[in-house]
Amino acid sequence: MGGGPAGLILGNLLRAEEIDALVVERAGREQVRTRARAGFLSPNSVRVLTEHGFAGGLLHKGRSHGVCAFRGEDGEFELNYAGLGRGDAHTVYPQQDLVTDLIAEYLDRGGDIRFGVTVTGVDPATASVETAEGVVSGRFLAGCDGSNGVTARLSEVVGRLTLVPGDSTRSIPATGDIYLLSRALHDWDDEQCRTILATCARNMPPHAELFVIERLLPEGADPDSLAIPWDVHMLCNTGGRERSEPDYRALLADAGFELVESHPLPLDAHIMRARRR
Ligand SMILES: Cc1cc2nc3c(=O)[nH]c(=O)nc-3n(C[C@H](O)[C@H](O)[C@H](O)COP(=O)(O)OP(=O)(O)OC[C@H]3O[C@@H](n4cnc5c(N)ncnc54)[C@H](O)[C@@H]3O)c2cc1C
Repeated sequence: MGGGPAGLILGNLLRAEEIDALVVERAGREQVRTRARAGFLSPNSVRVLTEHGFAGGLLHKGRSHGVCAFRGEDGEFELNYAGLGRGDAHTVYPQQDLVTDLIAEYLDRGGDIRFGVTVTGVDPATASVETAEGVVSGRFLAGCDGSNGVTARLSEVVGRLTLVPGDSTRSIPATGDIYLLSRALHDWDDEQCRTILATCARNMPPHAELFVIERLLPEGADPDSLAIPWDVHMLCNTGGRERSEPDYRALLADAGFELVESHPLPLDAHIMRARRR
């Protein structure tokens, strides 16, 4: 379901293994070809697309982008972020062009795509979808219909999940055993982080534990650390930052937590476990 980047990449990967695939896409072909969305591709996305042979268009027509200009009351300066970390730059290539390339590749590989067909119902048990043209069934169903798509609201998931609207700078539910802040703190400056952590400390039951997932800035020189370009990325986009483990230890301590342990995860991320002192 869904002929965006996710659905089309998956369809192409399946076709590369000669597995039959059908993409059902709500938008018409012209709409998909012209629908403006993303423009900046991260180095990792470009690497993955290149590895699988999907990057012909973007390598040919995309523009490398590695410098940000900051302007403020105190003047302006340029940051050559591609010269930091691994020396990776972004590639500017419109998403609609990428999607157009992926559709062409998918059709070349013998893939089937139905444009202008909206999925109105999903049955995960039989891997089938309901459309105005009838029911389509397969062996597996992949919900690539975007973050607001039908599959995000599947009753099977919804039955096991309660979404609670709230503001973590004020209050969080007080009934959990485990609280997880996953790539949330790096959006904020230290003061906001202290407020969020204090809210956790105030509301969590005594036995509960807090897990924090973030990329950690290296404590020594490590030009390959992904946390370095992300530090710049967060500064540009949210005013936040990446931090080192001692930085998180100190922020947690300010809110009354003790950092108990930290384990590495892929892509320079870490999961840190904390409990109240
Ligand atoms: C304005 C904007 C700017 C962005 N800029 C960047 C950027 O610079 N860099 C970056 O990396 N990311 C950017 N993003 C995010 C990026 O566009 C998304 O991460 C990406 O589109 C997600 O791809 P997807 O295939 O998961 O979902 P989508 O692209 O949303 O694709 C889902 C597809 O499913 C279809 N669909 C939905 N419901 C149904 C249904 N019921 N039946 C059939 N089909 C259905 C939709 O029509 C759509 O084609 C931007 C997003 C926006 C909106």
